[in-house]
Amino acid sequence: MPGAPSADLRRDRLTGLTSLVVPAWETAKAANPDVVALELPRGTRPCPFCPEQMDGGGSRAGEETERVAGRERHPAWSAIALRNRWPHTVDRAAAEVVVLSDVHDTDLGGLDLDEATAAFALMLARAEAQRLEGRFPLLFVNHGVNAGSSQPHPHGQVIGLPTPDPGSRAEALALAGSRCVLCEGASEAQLVARVPGAAIVVPDAPAVDYDQTVVLDEHGAPSPRAIAAGVGVALRALRAVTGPVAYNLVVHEVGHPHVHVTPRTAYHSGYELGGIRTCYVDPALAAERLRRAASSDGVEEQDEGSEDREREREPDRRTDAA
Ligand SMILES: [Zn+2]
Ligand SMILES: [Zn+2]
Ligand SMILES: [Zn+2]
Repeated sequence: MPGAPSADLRRDRLTGLTSLVVPAWETAKAANPDVVALELPRGTRPCPFCPEQMDGGGSRAGEETERVAGRERHPAWSAIALRNRWPHTVDRAAAEVVVLSDVHDTDLGGLDLDEATAAFALMLARAEAQRLEGRFPLLFVNHGVNAGSSQPHPHGQVIGLPTPDPGSRAEALALAGSRCVLCEGASEAQLVARVPGAAIVVPDAPAVDYDQTVVLDEHGAPSPRAIAAGVGVALRALRAVTGPVAYNLVVHEVGHPHVHVTPRTAYHSGYELGGIRTCYVDPALAAERLRRAASSDGVEEQDEGSEDREREREPDRRTDAA
């Protein structure tokens, strides 16, 4: 169509993956929502990760491997690691669930910085335990049905693989030595926020609308506090822009430490099976919206923010690639 903007195919400098950024269509497509709202899994009852179940001895969720002490609310633990009763890895002993909080009805964006730091410190400690066993740990969090979680209680997983995970391997060259793309930095247009020890950026080629990466300032062992601060700001900014949405986190420790904060703002379209991710919000616009939300962290409680969101809402043009 003459004059219509064309889609932009982008390759991510870090992951090497390809994204198609689709411009606003001239005719709105009303069949699909802008954003897939958060749906939590029903899980099993009583919740196997809640203190009432866990502290009664004989946890229903699996054998404990490590815990971090809690505070007044629940001194026994604020985060606890368990062997996964339903392991997804080669070696059954190498699959652990990390319960991220003693509170059932929250997520990493809702924890205070000390609690979130303790949760990430435990995930990193369990990853180190896997390395000492000669395995290659993969650390991730899934929150919500569309992100693949089966329990609503906030939790992450650490699984030990016999070889480095393919995602880390694909990034290795981009993070090597003096040519590290994360040391090179992102443009100001990609920057969402800075926190002590980390920056939050929108990737060159996002996996999905409002994808973010928390990039730690330095190579070497990652600071759990910097990760917690960055992930907290990223998740709260996300929520302020999109409303409650499912998300995944993947923590990459090797090379230049960073965390992929990937919201499940869309259902799978089919394109991704061909190796192409799709975005419908221009990444620069996504970064601008997230930046504004992050600049007043906690903006979701303010009415002004939601009015802004309404005004800015683009025509409904989510597609399932029909
Ligand atoms: Zn629970
Ligand atoms: Zn670097
Ligand atoms: Zn990565």
